[in-house]
Amino acid sequence: MNTKEKDLTYIMHTYGRYDVALCRGKGAVAYDEDGKRYIDVSSGIGVNSLGYCDDGWAEAVSAQAHTLQHMSNYFYSAQASDLAETLCKLTGLAKVCFGNSGAEANECAIKIARKYSFDKFGADRNEIVTLKNSFHGRTVTTLSATGQEVFHNFFFPFTQGFRYAEPNDIDALRALVGDKTCAVMLEVVQGEGGVNILDIDYVQAVARLCADKDILLIIDEVQTGVGRTGRLFAHEHYGVKPDLMTVAKGLGGGLPIGVCLCGEKLKDVMSPSTHGTTFGANPVVCAGANYVLSRVADDDFLRAVEEKGACLEQKLLQLDGVKHVRRLGLMVGIEIDGDAHEIAAKCVKNGLLIITAKDLLRMLPPLTITHDELDEAVLILEKTLKENTP
Ligand SMILES: *Cc1c(COP(=O)(O)O)cnc(C)c1O
Repeated sequence: MNTKEKDLTYIMHTYGRYDVALCRGKGAVAYDEDGKRYIDVSSGIGVNSLGYCDDGWAEAVSAQAHTLQHMSNYFYSAQASDLAETLCKLTGLAKVCFGNSGAEANECAIKIARKYSFDKFGADRNEIVTLKNSFHGRTVTTLSATGQEVFHNFFFPFTQGFRYAEPNDIDALRALVGDKTCAVMLEVVQGEGGVNILDIDYVQAVARLCADKDILLIIDEVQTGVGRTGRLFAHEHYGVKPDLMTVAKGLGGGLPIGVCLCGEKLKDVMSPSTHGTTFGANPVVCAGANYVLSRVADDDFLRAVEEKGACLEQKLLQLDGVKHVRRLGLMVGIEIDGDAHEIAAKCVKNGLLIITAKDLLRMLPPLTITHDELDEAVLILEKTLKENTP
């Protein structure tokens, strides 16, 4: 059997895959098993923040793999404590809890929010308001947190205690927030929901409302974090500070990690055995993340992300078939004439790895992508959109 046949035989069919088996890559370029070359503007859904096989990253990871690959959370780890220190110093938050994915980081934030409220106000104050069109993960609880009906199916009973507010409508949120509310959870740019960039006034009003009522503000930066939007974290564009923030996708540079960070007032909420995970804080993964932050947490690097994003937007807007571009940094949603899924599949055939979000094309290129590679991506998209017009 070839790769595709084996996959279809032995792997549960939870993804509709493109007809490509990738086997190696460098920077923003990937190759399939037949040696065909692709420009990748998806970076593994915003994960390969430094592109494929960045030399410094690969060295940091392999050096750690040759030194000590895992040790359990019962021992101190220099890689994990360095990463925690860096994250806290860069964000002004106080402490972190490590896990292995975005969903897990969000589970951790939900648990901390509920325990803070339980300790301070008792058991009944446990509701979390999230936004319609959000995405927070695939565990039973984070599906519940996700404010989209399509995700609330099959796996009943879901975790109780979530309510969903229309984004960018502070009155709608006010109407849902009550004596039982312990937290509001949101992405400042809804990624899976279609690259919806929340209004600054709205997010600031949410932060004020939360602060007034001792309701915790949880910002899910799983997709928007680690330089994706041209700031180290997207909430910096909004001038607000979360009580809890989750980070995952781009942090490990391609290795699985999820981190929940909390501010000063929450730093002692969790005590021994209230949370944990076997693989969390793995030193190889943390070595990769430390390297990613050493590159991305840099003003010049972040400025280049925004410059490349702005350039890309200008070029996309000139294409026939592109109606509108939603963009913050290198997080890009493209409204097009035609079916985004069909066009994405045709782009892949034409050598451009691109993804979708709702009915938009979506680009989350590696933050290190070059202007030439972006130009190449735009050319392939242009050609594909032309083929698609009857
Ligand atoms: C991808 C994503 C998640 C889930 O992350 P996993 O690593 O797939 O569990 C959660 N929140 C947001 C905003 C995401 O984009």
